[in-house]
Amino acid sequence: MSGAYIGAMRIARFTTGEDPVYGLVDGAGEKIAEITGDPLYTKIELTGQTHLVDDVRLLAPVIPRSKVIGIGRNYADHAAEMDSDVPTEPMMFLIPNTAVIGPGDPVVIPPTTSEVHYEGELAVVIGRMCRDVAPEEVSRVVFGYTCANDVTARDLQRGDGQWARAKGFDTFCPLGPWIETDLDPSGLSLTTRLDDETVQDGTTADLVFGVAELVSYASRAFTLLPGDVILTGTPAGVGPVTAGQRVEVEIEDIGILSNPFVTP
Ligand code: MG
Repeated sequence: MSGAYIGAMRIARFTTGEDPVYGLVDGAGEKIAEITGDPLYTKIELTGQTHLVDDVRLLAPVIPRSKVIGIGRNYADHAAEMDSDVPTEPMMFLIPNTAVIGPGDPVVIPPTTSEVHYEGELAVVIGRMCRDVAPEEVSRVVFGYTCANDVTARDLQRGDGQWARAKGFDTFCPLGPWIETDLDPSGLSLTTRLDDETVQDGTTADLVFGVAELVSYASRAFTLLPGDVILTGTPAGVGPVTAGQRVEVEIEDIGILSNPFVTP
């Protein structure tokens, strides 16, 4: 690999108008060096082709092969703002992979809800098929980390009881802008901006259940496949977003995931 990209290991999926390809993004987030295949399955080899990030369209850095696993109430301050207790075990739910979109893609607010909320979150991308993983072995099965917005139709979440619809609408799971493979996830600042106003300002140091516990716990219920994604929960400050607004989720040492919200 070329020296400029060693150590960065930010993996993006993008298109220049042709089929999606993968690339390594430099530390400044300005250039992409194209690689030959899907890095979840093939050794990373540069094609020699490079692009400016501004000249390509970034796509969701991963399409979860089987599932996105969400975790509810995993920050005490968010549980408190929802008038809920912190669960004694991770509270899991599933989001269909059809909800996933990429950076810049619009979140489409369906007419069946009148209360849509943003939830900025750290997302874990699984790299190896696994089950019953011990917490101390989790780093071996994690491919990397990206930003997520766990968009939620709060009114339907309350009314339905189950969260599948409220969190599973098409476009309700933005991921990106890329996957950072070389990262300690235990103390990263996480901020969410609604039209440039900071509305969430947290740190992953406040996760009730950390990444190792969450991946281990999930793997005791489900076989995890390469490309599966686990959303780790949101800190305090969730709130409504309406069509015409934009939400940015920024995580330290990863980057910024920015999506506009629209009506159909
Ligand atoms: Mg959430």
